[in-house]
Amino acid sequence: MSLKPKAVTCQCGHTFTSNRDRSWCEKCANAVYYHEKDKNKYKLSNMYVTGVIVAVITFLTYVFMELIATPLLSL
Ligand SMILES: [Zn+2]
Repeated sequence: MSLKPKAVTCQCGHTFTSNRDRSWCEKCANAVYYHEKDKNKYKLSNMYVTGVIVAVITFLTYVFMELIATPLLSL
């Protein structure tokens, strides 16, 4: 998906033209967002992904305990 080229400014002050939602600064390699408000959106989605991964690991640990530990304890 390509957007209309627009000048974006990085935190370090480097200004360049971007036509993507998120691109990388050539000077400091930070993420620079086409829409300023996307910063929070990406941050939220990162937190959501982290939450899902933690939930999956917790679930797998639980299943592992149920399948491996419980039969051993009930011997
Ligand atoms: Zn920069």
